[in-house]
Amino acid sequence: MSVQRTLSMIKPDATARSLTGAINAKLEAAGFRIIAQKRMFLSRAQAEAFYAVHKERAFFDDLCAFMSSGPIVAQVLEADDAVARYRDIMGATNPANAAEGTIRKEFAESIEANSVHGSDSLENAAQEISFFFSGLEIVG
Ligand code: ATP
Ligand code: MG
Repeated sequence: MSVQRTLSMIKPDATARSLTGAINAKLEAAGFRIIAQKRMFLSRAQAEAFYAVHKERAFFDDLCAFMSSGPIVAQVLEADDAVARYRDIMGATNPANAAEGTIRKEFAESIEANSVHGSDSLENAAQEISFFFSGLEIVG
């Protein structure tokens, strides 16, 4: 098992309910190190660029509107097998299908307002980390 980095976002539904600390506590308890973090607004154009892979999907416009509707917290998480382990602890996209103990089961409001984002592959993690952070901002 090798140490990996993955990109997390705490989404606007969660920042609106002041859940950043609760989510971070769960992440740290699960062994993730938060090695970079910033709270920011995504513009509509930035949300569209981040989610460009989904641009043909029916939910793309709503998703980009949601992601630019309030602050997000972008984070770099480091752990053994971080990409897959963070996907596990996030839970299923639709909170109705999320397993007990996952972040989405505990906090998500809907399939769209599902509290957190996590990279889905090591390759995408590297790309998504560089979307938000320069090397100087990542303190491993
Ligand atoms: P994320 O990429 O945010 O970590 P994910 O990988 O579980 O989530 P994706 O299929 O990549 O899910 O979808 C990206 C995001 O788009 C979802 O997290 C959710 O906010 C939104 N989304 C996905 N499917 C739907 C849908 N059917 N209706 C509305 N929004 C959706
Ligand atoms: Mg995804």
